[in-house]
Amino acid sequence: MSAAPVATGVAAVLEGRNLTKSFSVKRGHGLFGGRDRLYAVQDVSVSIGAARVTAVVGESGSGKTTVARMLAKIITPDSGEVLLNGVPTPRGRPREYARQVQMIFQDPFASLNPVHRVRHNLVRPLKIHHITDDIDGAVTGLLRRVSLEPADEFSAKFPHELSGGQRQRVAIARALAVRPRVLLADEPVSMLDVSIRLGVLNLLADLRDSEGLSILYVTHDIGSARYLADTIVVMYAGQLVEAAPSVSLTDDPAHPYTQLLLSAAPDPARSEAPSLVRSGAPPSLIAPPSGCRFHPRCPHAMEICHRVSPPSVEVSPGHTAACWLHVDQGKRQAEEERAADHVATNDPSAFGLGPERSQRTSATRTGGKEE
Ligand code: SF4
Repeated sequence: MSAAPVATGVAAVLEGRNLTKSFSVKRGHGLFGGRDRLYAVQDVSVSIGAARVTAVVGESGSGKTTVARMLAKIITPDSGEVLLNGVPTPRGRPREYARQVQMIFQDPFASLNPVHRVRHNLVRPLKIHHITDDIDGAVTGLLRRVSLEPADEFSAKFPHELSGGQRQRVAIARALAVRPRVLLADEPVSMLDVSIRLGVLNLLADLRDSEGLSILYVTHDIGSARYLADTIVVMYAGQLVEAAPSVSLTDDPAHPYTQLLLSAAPDPARSEAPSLVRSGAPPSLIAPPSGCRFHPRCPHAMEICHRVSPPSVEVSPGHTAACWLHVDQGKRQAEEERAADHVATNDPSAFGLGPERSQRTSATRTGGKEE
């Protein structure tokens, strides 16, 4: 089970409930390799409050970008729903939804049209969405909002004439052109020089504070998430494992995976470069481990962790973690006994397991080969 989303007391502008997404992927390199199912995101709920930043943090392959794309309605979830202003959204990506929920991508160069000047890149959304008749004034205003001045000069440049940070500012200005309520920023600073990352993060913080924008910040860097976000949710192997206000999560991480991420975050006081590699790699999402998906890497793994997914537990107000360490010992023992019974009787219904979970448990017991 994934960790429950944080209850912030702030009304959610954009919300994903129980989002699940799998993809069909080719097996091997041959012509007749067949196909596998890759379970990218399973039962993830996340919400972004008004004038708040929610960070989704995880390693590559954790499913965080897939969650952002489902919220942007660029891809359709297998199950679960997306709500805007508390109202379930229709299928597809209606134009009004696309206006209100804008996405900023990792590579600002790829997201701008390289053969057109900055002005053209900004004018296009203004015209498509009929935002204003004062196009020149709007372009100048947008460039000023992202601190690209003198605006006339930047407006006349081509994307290749800008630095990476300036290009990302143009991408943000283009997103702002249609007066959105939500920005979904997918690793917006990871391709930028370290020296200019802070400027873009500060710009996003300023848009939240001065204009009341709601922002989803997708990142692998938990340090920058703490700097920018009000709330952090941590994903591992397609599931949400911990969620809390950012200070609570980073000062007092409850899930061993969050603790691992924090131990690998850059620290000027540390002489050795941090690395997550030495602690193992995330599992395959084609045949994820049974029980807690983190158990092959977890230094605290218990017998029950191998067999049963941990429930989401509120470890402090507004701070949830999906980990057996935080489950009352009596309940854990009862679950362990039920797990033992389940193995002894080989009865999938003994646990109330859904067909997918019982199949996964069975696949693990048989060395990854589904029966
Ligand atoms: Fe998962 Fe168990 Fe480790 Fe908690 S203690 S993270 S449930 S393996």
